[in-house]
Amino acid sequence: MPKFEYAPAPESRAIVDLASSYGLFINGELVDGTGSSFKTINPATEEHLADIAEASAADVDAAVRAARAAQTRVWGRMSGAERGKYLFRIARIMQERSRELAVLETLDNGKPIKESRDVDVPTAAAHFFYHAGWADKLEYAGLGTSPRPLGVVGQVIPWNFPLLMLAWKIAPALATGNTVVLKPAETTPLTALLFAEICQQADLPPGVVNIVTGAGETGRALVEHPDVDKIAFTGSTEVGKAIARSIAGTRKRATLELGGKAANIVFEDAAVDQAVEGIVNGIFFNQGHVCCAGSRLLVQESVADEVVRRLERRMKTLRVGDPMDKNTDVGAINSKAQLQRITELVDAGEAEGATRWTAPCELPTRGFWFAPTVFTDVSQAHRVATEEIFGPVLSVLTFRTPQEAVAKANNTPYGLSAGIWTEKGSRILWMADQLKAGVVWANTFNRFDPTSPFGGYKESGYGREGGRHGLEAYLQTGEGA
Ligand code: NAD
Ligand code: MN
Repeated sequence: MPKFEYAPAPESRAIVDLASSYGLFINGELVDGTGSSFKTINPATEEHLADIAEASAADVDAAVRAARAAQTRVWGRMSGAERGKYLFRIARIMQERSRELAVLETLDNGKPIKESRDVDVPTAAAHFFYHAGWADKLEYAGLGTSPRPLGVVGQVIPWNFPLLMLAWKIAPALATGNTVVLKPAETTPLTALLFAEICQQADLPPGVVNIVTGAGETGRALVEHPDVDKIAFTGSTEVGKAIARSIAGTRKRATLELGGKAANIVFEDAAVDQAVEGIVNGIFFNQGHVCCAGSRLLVQESVADEVVRRLERRMKTLRVGDPMDKNTDVGAINSKAQLQRITELVDAGEAEGATRWTAPCELPTRGFWFAPTVFTDVSQAHRVATEEIFGPVLSVLTFRTPQEAVAKANNTPYGLSAGIWTEKGSRILWMADQLKAGVVWANTFNRFDPTSPFGGYKESGYGREGGRHGLEAYLQTGEGA
């Protein structure tokens, strides 16, 4: 038991100036749109935050036209050095307005303020800084001597890292001379709309960035629009497959960043307390709403009992509750629908015979909450071992040899990330080589850096985001470019 209790340390929301309703950002202006509207709420309180315009197919068409005109007349003709200045300016404004962005992200998404403040917003700004630096050096990126932009890019993003996913999408697209139409997720549109204001503040030419809010239908209209040259999507494997089918046979290019079921692998020689911190970070960061979450713990049999005991002890100290409290570790589940999905899979885990342990904690009465949970006695066939839960739920499996760890880790349709915990450098290199995962972390987990490419194998999608590799997805390269 903790020896003391923390006093409440709420972040103030006074810095955020919420409007009662928001329009669409098309051609540099916030406009009403022709569709209906929907509400976005604070998932920690169920408080109605604002009404959001639902972009119709006609609105999406207006946004794509604005993006096309801006690309051919302005942005595609501008020198890389000039484009870079705009990206630097956007990055600096994001830093200046970082508190506002963090508070708004936490209100709309439910993630702890310490994460939006210390991870989401600074990493988003870093993506703009990093890509600003590339804008005038594209011919030295190893992608041919005269790489050219693709044109207009349609981008669809999820709700788990609303501003950060926006940055992952918009920064490389703009650095490479493309213009964008971006659709944020329906439960988390607010930071994208504040970003629209930042584009105005940076004097970004109208039409270079367009933001259309809405749900699946708006996303589909964007994906199916005939004048879009490339689709960049992050979200569920199911929708990713539907997008791949819908653009098959067209000239559209695509990058898809989909789900995951990552193995976090702990060997008997690992520093146990550090590994436990890494396990906690791997699955409870952002309530486990992380595509690369370490949701399958593979622990060597000889230390399994000890690791699980220390893990459960650590989980008892996680502070679950008000996301606006600076001491909160685990915030609210993003939506009622996501909470239902998590609950259904956890029920299935119990029904299939895995052993459930949930950290004792008092959950708020309003809002959407799920206490940190771990399953032991999990077999590889259980649904909690194969399906992405996208919540604060860890499944523990054991192994005896490195070969068995590799076989179990790779026994998944996904392949986004993996973690290795061992003191042996040679084993890290051998394992990293064997694991079919786009990112492999060694003695750490969930580290993100704009210089490092991120992406999947198999049903986790294709294409890379970030780093030099990420530029390629936005450029015509080679002969014919
Ligand atoms: P989703 O794939 O339904 O939504 C992602 C985005 O795609 C949203 O902006 C959504 O409006 C849009 N969209 C939905 N249908 C579309 C369509 N037909 N055409 C174009 N765009 C469309 O994901 P979700 O419903 O928010 O979450 C469901 C599951 O997806 C989660 O449980 C999780 O497993 C997974 N997920 C993965 C990630 C990731 O980062 N890889 C992020 C969020 C969710
Ligand atoms: Mn919301």
